Amino acid sequence: MKVKLAETIRAYHQKGWSPATSTNYSFIENDQIWVSRSGVDKSEFSENDFIPIDNAGKVQVPFEGIKPSDETMIHVLIYHLFPEAKVILHSHSKNPVLISMKHKAHFMVQNYEVQKGFSGIQTHDCQVQIPIFDNAQDMRYFEDVLTERKSEIKQHCFIIRQHGTYAWGENLFAAKRHLETLDYLCECELAQV
Ligand SMILES: [Zn+2]
Repeated sequence: MKVKLAETIRAYHQKGWSPATSTNYSFIENDQIWVSRSGVDKSEFSENDFIPIDNAGKVQVPFEGIKPSDETMIHVLIYHLFPEAKVILHSHSKNPVLISMKHKAHFMVQNYEVQKGFSGIQTHDCQVQIPIFDNAQDMRYFEDVLTERKSEIKQHCFIIRQHGTYAWGENLFAAKRHLETLDYLCECELAQV
């Protein structure tokens, strides 16, 4: 998993999704959460840049001196609220950032073939709604808002306003599909005149 996820992180950097060392990633393997460490240029991210944390976000021995991502608690919250999640990807792609400035609480699309990239969506012929949450540095805010609006999070992803997206899945393949589907839908909506 570490090698494959590190490859994905470098590839997403190539797409411009993680400028200036930003974004963070995690996975669960053998009941252990591993999260990307802070401050790494994502073009050089390697399988050695993941550190283990416990269910409260605390870094495990012998990695205590290494700083995890500032947003580690968002990962912990997602794993807590969505037990099927085993891989979480975070992107600072411009498409969802721009979409979040045009919409309030939700981003809604319909009739796109690619919406079938979301697990459980069988047809283009339906509406897909992605929640948008305001940005915050206070992780307690995310704990409250994600818990309160959990039922709105149906497509294994959400947008944080003027910040980026989180997407997850039962494995890397599914998490990538959800993140890339959301980004594509945002890009299409933005391209409309
Ligand atoms: Zn971020």
